[in-house]
Amino acid sequence: MPLQYSKYLDSLNERQREAAFSDIATPLMIVAGPGSGKTSTMVGRILVLLNEGINPSNVLAMTFTTAAASEMRDRIGAIAGKEAAKELKISTFHSFSLQLCRSHADKLGRTQEFTIFGQGQQRRAVIEAMRLLRNENSKQDDELCKFVEDPGGINSPQYLKDKSRKWQKFVTQAKASGKTTGYYIKMGNDIEAAVLEHYNDILRCCNALDYHDLISCSVKLLTDFPEVLKECQDLWKAVIIDEFQDTSAMQYSLLRILASHNHITIVGDDDQSIFSFNGADISGFDSFREDFPNYKEVRLNKNYRSTRCIVEAATSLIQNNVKRCRLKDVVTDNSSGSKVTIKECHNEDAQCTFVIDKILETMSSGSTGASSFGSFAILYRRQVSGKVFQAALRDRKIPFNVHGVAFYRKKVVRAIFAMLNTTLPGCDDVHYRRVFKALLPLEKEETKRVINHIDKISTVRKCSFISAACDIFSAKVSGTFKRSQLAQGRKILLTLDMITKLVQREQSISTVITSVATMIPQRYLLEQRAVVDSDGGKLLNEDNDMRSVLQYLLDDVANFISTHSTAAEDRDDKEEGRGCLSALQAFVGYTSERERGNFHSRRHDNENSVTLTTIHQSKGLEWDVVFIVKANESEIPLLHEFNGVSKESGSSLEEERRLFYVAMTRARKKLFILQVTMDSSWQMLQPSRFLKEIPVHLLDIQVDLSRRNVSAVEHQISNGTAQKSGEKECSAEEPIPDESRGVLNDTAIEDGAIMVEAYNGNNFLKGFDVDERSVVSHLF
Ligand code: ATP
Ligand code: MG
Repeated sequence: MPLQYSKYLDSLNERQREAAFSDIATPLMIVAGPGSGKTSTMVGRILVLLNEGINPSNVLAMTFTTAAASEMRDRIGAIAGKEAAKELKISTFHSFSLQLCRSHADKLGRTQEFTIFGQGQQRRAVIEAMRLLRNENSKQDDELCKFVEDPGGINSPQYLKDKSRKWQKFVTQAKASGKTTGYYIKMGNDIEAAVLEHYNDILRCCNALDYHDLISCSVKLLTDFPEVLKECQDLWKAVIIDEFQDTSAMQYSLLRILASHNHITIVGDDDQSIFSFNGADISGFDSFREDFPNYKEVRLNKNYRSTRCIVEAATSLIQNNVKRCRLKDVVTDNSSGSKVTIKECHNEDAQCTFVIDKILETMSSGSTGASSFGSFAILYRRQVSGKVFQAALRDRKIPFNVHGVAFYRKKVVRAIFAMLNTTLPGCDDVHYRRVFKALLPLEKEETKRVINHIDKISTVRKCSFISAACDIFSAKVSGTFKRSQLAQGRKILLTLDMITKLVQREQSISTVITSVATMIPQRYLLEQRAVVDSDGGKLLNEDNDMRSVLQYLLDDVANFISTHSTAAEDRDDKEEGRGCLSALQAFVGYTSERERGNFHSRRHDNENSVTLTTIHQSKGLEWDVVFIVKANESEIPLLHEFNGVSKESGSSLEEERRLFYVAMTRARKKLFILQVTMDSSWQMLQPSRFLKEIPVHLLDIQVDLSRRNVSAVEHQISNGTAQKSGEKECSAEEPIPDESRGVLNDTAIEDGAIMVEAYNGNNFLKGFDVDERSVVSHLF
């Protein structure tokens, strides 16, 4: 065995090695808690397989994020060499399925150029399905009217917003669990069946698939077409899956079929299953046991990542979940480290200041060994909570990177992608509409009017948006537009033509993107900036600065090229003289998956920048210092109501607890949990119920009493239950500033009661903390 291989494998512990060296013909299940080296073991297993002579191109490793995929490729590359690492198929479920579906698109009733509907397009298709259903049933006063609730209001934006979200969720869940129209008919759920059927028809007409279709269509290809199955089985001699707990029933079916040779390894932790909204289903572990009865199970129980304090705090939290497949004892030999800090802040700005000050303080003191900004992560439940941090970090000139979807949802970025999309076969109206919105040099209202008119003509003539636009602007249709507007429209058509030619001519995606970015008018950038300004409070200046947008995009192209071999596309393009069309198509597919928040790119995890990310996107990763912010009720747990399932239903609460668990276990050395007492509209917020589940002896609690009135303590003194603990002279020359009234001077826990010492402007008072909203009283 090459020295590097054995060096790596020697660094594993006994159980990890046992798993890595286990016989390829025996299905293997590695179940273990966070930070126990599951992913590290998976890397070891791949090395062993390569050493046993399996060709790297015959190994299929599935991960859930491309960050994880490129991390794994890097790690293996460092040991087995870059070439071998590049040959390995390390892929997300979606990119794997996308490739399979494209290769056999004809068998799915699509052409090879089918598009992938992102969330926005999916929503529009759902709305269209609802409209069709409504029209079909318009004369009947049946159940549908109940479903519609407001029959007259189906066109109202609010109606569509509220209902379509719900039905989009339904469609997603139906697809993730593999439920078809037939299933709903059988169950007597006719409305569900009809929505799903219309939705599927719309996708077929648009030559499109959505993300869940990619998986179910792959399953269909492998089940209905033996030649496809054979091709895959000949290719994938070993199948390995990380984060198995997040696989949906459909994804599991895909794995089961692919691994019918039994050469499968699954790696996961049921306590970290956090994607049930996407159809993830931890019963996959049980299915695995049934489907691969001769499987071998290896459990790892030593946490190498975090200090003992963090491990114990997280373990206490997760023990409150009833539904746990297999109980795992997680222990660690690491030092106990400092306590988990719970910090109460009076609002989000104060929270932000605390976090940033702490980062700078930790860096300068070197206390946790954190010597670069890359050692810190700020985790939040909802993307929106990150905004205030972005602005503040920027103000304080601290480098940061944002994981997740924010970038690809920017209007400017969407405009660039819409322009790129118009060069691809099967481009739909959404993209053309977006291009007109971005390029028309008109006021917003006027732009809307032009677009509505094109829409109207396309409906009347039953043609696409772009053909209607062509007819209007070449004056084939007598329209309502002024000559100047016609000229502007023609200019856009010419621009689109130019981009198409550019793609056909250029070999490099980067060159095309750079040119396209320069076509976005300054006016549009400024307009979008103003939107951010008015709804985001603080202006995120650089966010819409084209230079930084372009830099980010070009970085992403580089990242894409380094992690996805586009050799085949490049060769096809070259042979057919198509410039970079296929490579561009692959890149656009990759980014629409990013837009969906399916993964983030490790390339942007700049080593010297603070990471801002949602908890969902933080899985599998680790940092020295982690701040979980806004740990408040209504934030985490964030409970939704859907399909009659109660908000407080055990399963959603347990999923939220798992999410909190994932967040806590990302920290290596120091964990801060922050909660705010008041939101931006002056509403009082409760601390998250999960804080109560961490034993107090593991906590360092920092309360904020600046908002608190001392009258409660004064009242206790007057009725004899509390005492005055000291006096301070006040003089007219030295008035006591208002803000110091009620500031906490000391907190003590005495016999289960919280004693607070407060200063009322004249005296120091000692009494009981009676504020129910206080994080301290909340913990008892
Ligand atoms: P998660 O559940 O969060 O995905 P994981 O189980 O996949 O965690 P890894 O990311 O593989 O855990 O490992 C966590 C940390 O522990 C890493 O920093 C890794 O380098 C380290 N580690 C893993 N195994 C060992 C070992 N045998 N000796 C020392 N360090 C180890
Ligand atoms: Mg892992």
